[in-house]
Amino acid sequence: MIIGVPKEIKTNENRVALTPAGVKEFVKRGHTVYMQATAGEGSGFTDEEYQQAGASVLPTIEDVYEIAEMIMKVKEPIEPEYKLIKKDQLVFTYFHFASYEPLTKAMIDSQSVCLAYETVEKPDRSLPLLVPMSEVAGRMSVQQGAKYLEKTMKGRGILLGGVAGVAPAKVLILGGGVVGTEAAKMAAGLGADVTILDVNLARMRYLEDIMPANVNTIMSNEYNIRSLIQQADLIVGAVLIPGAKAPHLITRDMLKEMRPGTVLVDVAVDQGGCIETCKPTTHENPTFIIDDVVHYCVANMPGAVPYTSTLALTNATLPYALQLAEKGWKKACRENEELKKGLNIIQGKVVYQAVAEAFDLEY
Ligand code: NAD
Repeated sequence: MIIGVPKEIKTNENRVALTPAGVKEFVKRGHTVYMQATAGEGSGFTDEEYQQAGASVLPTIEDVYEIAEMIMKVKEPIEPEYKLIKKDQLVFTYFHFASYEPLTKAMIDSQSVCLAYETVEKPDRSLPLLVPMSEVAGRMSVQQGAKYLEKTMKGRGILLGGVAGVAPAKVLILGGGVVGTEAAKMAAGLGADVTILDVNLARMRYLEDIMPANVNTIMSNEYNIRSLIQQADLIVGAVLIPGAKAPHLITRDMLKEMRPGTVLVDVAVDQGGCIETCKPTTHENPTFIIDDVVHYCVANMPGAVPYTSTLALTNATLPYALQLAEKGWKKACRENEELKKGLNIIQGKVVYQAVAEAFDLEY
């Protein structure tokens, strides 16, 4: 198969869909890979490295779309890319169709085959191509939280781990899924006093088993949240209710009960946020302050660490991409239920229920 990897053109997107190591795997199996020039630059991979791995480098994005049977990308196509996508071309990337109708309409019109990273699903209902980004965001939430707790960043001026004779900071994590678990590991490693709140008892039993002694779990309810936020230094929002907006576990009125300089990192901001006062921010302008409480609500946290994020993402996508190249999308999806769940639009027809329902389209 001929695989094409364009350079991402969405603002501040430095990830790339394939590393030189990935190119090598395709080439070894007899496939052809075309990279757009400088596609890997933002993640630290040069054109020469791709060429050494066996890829050909093409100068423009048009060249890549023109020649490829399968396009591998990171972000959903944006308007200038719509017209480049061809009939029957397989596009393997994040799409998030349900949140943007013009993209859905454009992909229907393109008659291409759209396989979305975010809906590839394992039998246990986990989403293997979303997990790596949650891992990155979870670990980063504590790194960012520690930074904004510094006095010059308007935080309380407290060191997460404390020192001999001085108590560590208290970190409260709302939701003990992928993001929450990674956040807890980082905070605990730095010596903080960590509490994870969740509603899933089985999950909390598991976390109690695997976490170090400075991590505790507590049932998530309004009573417990109201009492714990009064002592917390850093609060990480990591709640997810699949297919729904995040519940507002911390409401506007609760901010007054927090100490000045408390830092809120709402990782769930991409699903509406679990802190009522959070609204999406950017890496250029990541925080704002309400009632002396610092809010960090960057919607694409992994974008700040493209090297790690690219490697984490491509580790997860490559095995699926190799199957698609080997067998073609029809056979690969017939033989692999996980990949089949990724199919969203096939040659003009929406085949993913949630996308059809979002825009009242035929399904
Ligand atoms: P997950 O499904 O692994 O975990 C969610 C957890 O929330 C589960 O353990 C669930 O039991 C728990 N939960 C549900 N209701 C709760 C409640 N009322 N109180 C406490 N816990 C509750 O999800 P995840 O992969 O950890 O993702 C968490 C959020 O982070 C999602 O919204 C995801 O989209 C977002 N995310 C954001 C970024 C970013 O850059 N901002 C990056 C990756 C993921």
